[in-house]
This record gives sequence, structure tokens and C-alpha cells, in this order.
Amino acid sequence: MSPRERTTTAEDARCPRLPDRLGGLWTLANDLSWTWNPEAPTLFRAIDPPLWRRTRHNPVALLRTVGAERLRSVAEDPVFLRRYDAALDVRRDAVAVGHAREPGTAGHADDVGADATPTWFDERYPAFRDLPVAYFCAEFALHESIPIYSGGLGVLAGDHLKAASELGVPLVGVGLMYAHGYFDQTLGSDGWQDDADDPLDPDLTPLERLRGVDGVPWLASIRGGGRRIHIGAWRLRVGRVSLYLLDTDLEENDPADRGLSHQLYAGGADHRLRQEAILGVGGVRVLAALGIEPGAWHANEGHAAFMMVERVRRLMRDGRSFADAVSRVRASTVFTTHTPVSAGHDVFSHAQMREWIGETFWEEIPHREELLGLGRHPDDEAQDRFHMTAAAIRLSRRVNGVSARHGRVSRNIWRGLWEDRAAGEVPIRHVTNGVHLATWMSDDIAGLLDEWLPAGWRCTDDEAMWGAVRDVPAPALWRVRRRLKLRLLDLMRDEARRRWPGHWTESAHLAGAGTLMSPEPLTIGFARRFATYKRADLIFRDRERLLALLSDPARPVQLIFAGKAHPRDDDGKRVLQRVYEHTRDPEFEGRIAFLENYGLHAAHGLVEGVDLWLNLPRVPLEASGTSGMKAALNGVPQLATADGWWEEGFEGDNGWIIPLAPATASEEEVDEHDAEHLFRLLEEDVIPLYYDRPGAGAADDAPASWLAPARRAIEVAGARFTAGRMVRDYARDYYVPSLRGDD
Ligand SMILES: *Cc1c(COP(=O)(O)O)cnc(C)c1O
Repeated sequence: MSPRERTTTAEDARCPRLPDRLGGLWTLANDLSWTWNPEAPTLFRAIDPPLWRRTRHNPVALLRTVGAERLRSVAEDPVFLRRYDAALDVRRDAVAVGHAREPGTAGHADDVGADATPTWFDERYPAFRDLPVAYFCAEFALHESIPIYSGGLGVLAGDHLKAASELGVPLVGVGLMYAHGYFDQTLGSDGWQDDADDPLDPDLTPLERLRGVDGVPWLASIRGGGRRIHIGAWRLRVGRVSLYLLDTDLEENDPADRGLSHQLYAGGADHRLRQEAILGVGGVRVLAALGIEPGAWHANEGHAAFMMVERVRRLMRDGRSFADAVSRVRASTVFTTHTPVSAGHDVFSHAQMREWIGETFWEEIPHREELLGLGRHPDDEAQDRFHMTAAAIRLSRRVNGVSARHGRVSRNIWRGLWEDRAAGEVPIRHVTNGVHLATWMSDDIAGLLDEWLPAGWRCTDDEAMWGAVRDVPAPALWRVRRRLKLRLLDLMRDEARRRWPGHWTESAHLAGAGTLMSPEPLTIGFARRFATYKRADLIFRDRERLLALLSDPARPVQLIFAGKAHPRDDDGKRVLQRVYEHTRDPEFEGRIAFLENYGLHAAHGLVEGVDLWLNLPRVPLEASGTSGMKAALNGVPQLATADGWWEEGFEGDNGWIIPLAPATASEEEVDEHDAEHLFRLLEEDVIPLYYDRPGAGAADDAPASWLAPARRAIEVAGARFTAGRMVRDYARDYYVPSLRGDD
């Protein structure tokens, strides 16, 4: 028996009893391809709408708790059954592979269909369809009910898996299973963020525990701190792709090690080092235990750099020289950096490494100095520190940043690794991020495009095809935009109603939650992690000017904020608190709101429902940014600084850009400059355009001038900033050359 066959899944045992006719519901709920199956959410909701809301749109939880009576009744409802059949048809196509996969590869043996349409990858690269590409990342955002993500990096990784599934790229994901989740955000009445665990009950998710030899719950181990740490693995299905999530929360482990995987980005440097060893070293070992032999390896951000070091170690253990091992690992490795400042990268001291992972790396090979040297940073005076990003760059033949601008910035930061080559000659390229279209474009907008765009628009970057967005009639687009805004206001009222009892005491809290907002005013959204460089408070620099905008009786504006500060980022929490105070200020007439607990669900409501998306990072600190792409796909243009993707995505007529401040300006001067331009753009361009219509604000009064940038936003994002485009770029320029062993 291969190790893979020895692993068992507990899925059958966990399956609730469903009427025979509805047996497929469990399969549907346990494969995250349901999250972009256009039929599935409506189907699950129809089973029991209040329960669907109470379970936070979690179909596994729903099927485990719904009454048998209710299931019997929907099993006899012809409308429900039609939708059920349609949802299962969509899923069948989303997972089908047209050929038998070899054991130990990326696919799922149970989904072979000889008549399946070949995927994009199968058609172009048939020779590589059975060679898995292992994709490592510290976080994955796939659905709200699996809270193992903190923000942009996780959403990007989740979207990467989803697009890879659609394109048939033979990817396997590797990440960590954080049993305590990221955190649930509630704000105290003073606006100070309270971070509560958001624990994850695997029984209420599609996570399957994999088992090793003789049924033990662990598949691999590492050594550190004088102990052996067993590593368990869970599997999540994302259409054609499997995601393996590792944890150490096993009875066999020392209590001190069990918590290592509990929380995302928690604890001090030692904790983080050990977490990253579990991800990188543990990930390689778990894949080997499962019999999966990747042909290419992709580390998404430096947290996973130990994956490369572990592969060097294994090759040396098998008798290769250090130089040969490094060159072999390099040839098959892709590294994506996401951090635009040198200080943002993980660094560990050699002493720490010796203490916590020395036994892992050096017990079998005597090449400690060489391995440690992989992490040396040319600009770091201290010779005894290990820079994860430097190691990842040294061990990857193909390295990229995540936007054109970030590619340039990265070449500059890392040129020292190439003996000070001219920055232009540093071999770091870029693949601009993208967002998963079927996840982020609302069904309402997609429905419109189905009517007006040529068939096949969902999977093309043909600009001419996307150009047909201009044919969508203004009244139809405006009706959809308005519906989406009303839905967002509903979402905010629901949240307010949920929080009001017990939690809030003053009416100001209700106003601050957006309950006084109406659909007519121009509505601006700002939602992102509360890191100080993102400058959520920039617009409050000139209170009088803001007041004039918001309370203009003829052309009012309203502002919605959302976002979490990292639990240990008190500066970020203070910015959040300041913003929160403004939401309760009666002078703003309830036109500023804060939507708590920003996660995937709130993000959907916001990027779909507002009129304008605001993004104000201090240049060049945002490597790419993706929320503006999500908004754009929904016809919501962006106003942003010339950072990240917007520098290349702004085309003059699909939104607005704040020009760069002079290079010599101080931070204070940059903020002043950017705030001035922000106000000027709002006052002179955005607001007049939005209100450029005779019956300003009437429901059926489509503002044709406003819908021009809205349409162009859809067109540009659809053609150039989807995860489909991004994964095709990676497959063509990074994965296939790595699989082929090109130099
Ligand atoms: C898209 C997204 C992000 C990342 O947005 P940025 O533009 O990179 O700030 C963060 N959190 C959630 C929940 C998202 O959906």
C-alpha cells in the first residue's frame, strides 16, 4: 500500500442523514467550489434562511443542524430540486478531470470523467498535467467560516487556489490550520478594539483529518527545543485543488507545542520561528508522507522559506553536495515577495535557530554554516541573523513582486544579493495580483454581463470582449448598482440590530453603525487592515472641509469604514479608535459609519455596495492591494494613491489617482499633499460627476456620466486584474519553466 492509500478520511462518518434525493448536498457542502458556484448559496439559503444567516453562511453547519422535517419538505419542492440539480451539474464541471491522474498527484481520483472538457492547463501543457505544483502560504482566505486568514495575503492565496482549480493547474496548497482562528473584532464603546478568539470547530467545516500509518493522527514531525513535535494534517477540497493544513494540536505533543498552530501571526519571535518551521519543513515532510512529489514549488511570501531549506537538507542527506542541492532546489522553486520595505521581512537569530530548529536541520548533515549562510543579508552588519526573504531569493530561480511598481521596488531592495548589479538587471520580475472573478463579482453584475457580453467573457483577457461593457444600458446598470447599495445598507442594519442589545447604550452607537444612512448619497468605502501606512484617518485632516462635503444638502456624501488592526499593533488600534470617534460625532449627521469585524463577508457587501472605493496607502508601502480590483469588477471605481496595482491599473477614465508627492517631501508634507489632492478630486471631479443628472438622486434617474467610469472600471479589471490572468501568468512564465527545468 502506498502511504496515500493508508490515510483515511472520516467524511462518511461525519455525514448527517439526508433524504436520498438530496444526498449530493453533503458533497457540495464539503467542497469549497460551492463558494463560486452561482447556484449553491441560493440553494443552501432556501433550506432554512434564518439558519443560513445564523450559521454565517456555513453549509456544513447548516446541514448538521437543520431539522429533518425541513429537509423532507424541500426534497419535495420542484423549484428547489431544479436548483439542486443545477448546482450539482456546475460542481461536476468544476471538479472534472478528463484523464486518470497518477496516485499521489494533485487531482481527486473520484472525479475522472472521460467526457470532461479539457481544462486550460491540460490543453496547453498536457505533459505536465500530473506534476503537482506545491503552493505554500501562511494564510488562506476561502470562506468566512474558515477563519484562517488575516487579510490581503490570505485572500490572494485563496483566490489563487480557486483560479488554479478552474484552469486545471495541478496545484496542491500547503498552509497552517489555526484552530483558534484569527480573531473576532468588537469595538468597545470607546472604539478600542477587543480581539476575541474566533475558534474553528472542524466538524462544522469541510476539513478532513488525515491519518498516518496505523491511523495515528500525525503524518510527520520535526525536532526542536529537545522535543519531537508531531505534525497533523487536514485536507480541504477546493474544486480540483487540495489544500493541506498542518497543525500540532495533538495529544501526542507536549502541551507547550500544541498551541504552536493555534493562532495566526501570534506570539513572539520564537513562536513565529517554530510556526514557520512547521509550515516549511513540516509541509515538505507531510507532502512526502502523502506520496505527493511536486515538480515545482511556490512560496507565497517569505514565511515559507524553510520549505526550500528543508529540500536542500534532504538532497544533502541523500548524498548531494551543498552546491548541487542548492542548484536543484533553485531550478524548481518560485518565490513571490509581498513586502516593499526591508524592515518588513522575518529575521531570526542563529541562536534562536539553533535552539528551536537546529535538531531538525543538522542532526543528519554537518553543514550548519552553509545552511545558515543562505539567510545572510548583504546589508546586515550582524553576521548571525537569518533573513527569510534573502534565503528564499537565493533558493529560487524565479522571483517576483506583485505589481509593476513593487517589482521595481524589490529589485532595488534586493540588488545587494547580486553583488550590486544595476537595479534594472536584478532578476526579480513581477506578476500583478488579481482577484477571483466568480468570487468577487456579484451575481447581479455577472447576470448583466451575461446579457451584453459575448459568451466566454468570464475567462478571457481579451480587451475587445470586455469593451462590450460599454453597451450595457445605463438604466440597467444603475438598477443593479442601486440594488447592491441597498443590500449593503441592509447588511449594516442587520449587524447593528445584532449588536444593539447589551452591547450598545447610546443612540450614537447606532448612528455610527450606519443605521441613518440612505441609498441616495454618494457612498464612499474604505476597508482594509488598520496599519498606519494605509492612512484611514487622512480624510479627517481637514474636518471642516469634510463636514462641508458630507452635509451638503444638495449633494451629500457618506463614508463607510471597516477593518481590523493587528492585535499587537497599538498604533493601528489608535487610528481605528480615532476613526470610530468620528462615526459617533453628531455633527457628521450619521454619515460616517464603521462596519465591525471586517472579513470576507463584510468585504463582499462593501466592494459591491458602495459607489466609490478609497485607498490611500503612503507610496510605496502597498505592494499591490486587491480590494480596489474587487470593487472595480462590480462597477465601483477607485480613488487611490499611485501605489501598487493602481499605478498600472489607472487608465485616466476608470477612477481617479492622487499624483505622487515630490520625492523630497517629509512624511508630514506627503500627508498634507495627498489630503489636499484627495479633497480636490472629490470636490471638483467625483461629486459633480455623481450628481450630474437632472433629478439628482431619484431612484430611476441613472447618472450617465457617473456610469462611464463605472463601466470602464469593470472593463479594465475584468481584462487585466483577475486571478485567472494571474494564475495563467504564473503557470506560463513560472510553473511550466520550473517543471521543465529551464534555466
Ligand atoms: C481583499 C481583502 C483584503 C485586501 O485588501 P487590500 O486592498 O490589499 O487592502 C483584506 N481583507 C479582506 C477581508 C479582503 O477581502
